[in-house]
Amino acid sequence: MAVPKKKTSKSRRDMRRSHHAIKPALASECPNCGERKLSHHVCVKCGHYRGRQVMTVQVEA
Ligand SMILES: [Zn+2]
Repeated sequence: MAVPKKKTSKSRRDMRRSHHAIKPALASECPNCGERKLSHHVCVKCGHYRGRQVMTVQVEA
């Protein structure tokens, strides 16, 4: 089994973790209804994707 030769210093460990912060999910705007949606996903509000209806959306009473 491969074993590290030297203990990772606090500095190296923290430098590695500098990229670990959670970023907010990337949201783009739906060109049909203008609602915020996840890119590469069907719009949950109107069911459009790439300019056409791909899913019927239940309208709440
Ligand atoms: Zn939409």
